[in-house]
Amino acid sequence: MPVNERIRAAREWIERAGSITVLTGAGVSAESGVPTFRGAEGLWKKHRPEDLATPEAFARNRALVWEWYRWRQELVSGTEPNAAHYALAAHAARGVAFTLITQNVDGHHERAGSRDVVELHGNLFRARCPGDGTLASLSAGPFTGIPVCPSCGGAMRPDIVWFGESLPEAALHRALLAAESAEVFVVVGTSAVVQPAASLPGIASSRGAKVIEVNLEETPVSEFADCVVRGTAAETLPRLFSMEEGSP
Ligand code: NAD
Repeated sequence: MPVNERIRAAREWIERAGSITVLTGAGVSAESGVPTFRGAEGLWKKHRPEDLATPEAFARNRALVWEWYRWRQELVSGTEPNAAHYALAAHAARGVAFTLITQNVDGHHERAGSRDVVELHGNLFRARCPGDGTLASLSAGPFTGIPVCPSCGGAMRPDIVWFGESLPEAALHRALLAAESAEVFVVVGTSAVVQPAASLPGIASSRGAKVIEVNLEETPVSEFADCVVRGTAAETLPRLFSMEEGSP
């Protein structure tokens, strides 16, 4: 089926659905200029993200890990949400049951106006105290030292889920409920290999949801999705979610 027809069919499912759940990954922010981990730009001072985003790396060298996160914050601060983020925020504002789940940590969905985003992997602009759980917002800025907990004075860590760590329970619970109850589940810009987020589209599908995938490449979701759109997020989402008159 030609891509325009596929988009039209998917858009009809979206228009008719009583509940929609969207899962986004790094690809939704790629056109904003935020590099994906698996892209060629995923190296910083020759360190692989897998060697920095771990509890062991933090135990070994807290300053190095914070320096990397400060660099990533600065990188994101120099970018803006794109048409994909805005299309999702506009759709949620229409008042249908709508849950936006993201694996991204860049905060672009909120900046585009989405509220109540389920952040599965944390946020670059927050620090957390490993001792007492205190959260603190961080504004972007160069590395000047390890943030200190305002309550206990201990060293804080980025409020990010690292490799090998479990996801925040409340966020995971909400994500599972939203996957189970969705009539339409849209997966955008994720390689769908990082668990447990990767299993959400399958859960939705097994409960009868129509699964729509928007990605430039084939992923494990492509095999069972009801509709696959090989296109970019910023070009495709405004066409899928726009309720303006006119055909896609
Ligand atoms: P990933 O890097 O594994 O995969 C990105 C996917 O997006 C790929 O499948 C790619 O084909 C697709 N893609 C790239 N450009 C696209 C575009 N313009 N439109 C549509 N699709 C596009 O990302 P992931 O699956 O999210 O997993 C990586 C992990 O790294 C996540 O857990 C996330 O927390 C973290 N991460 C976050 C950010 C961010 O916050 N922006 C950036 C890098 C990594």
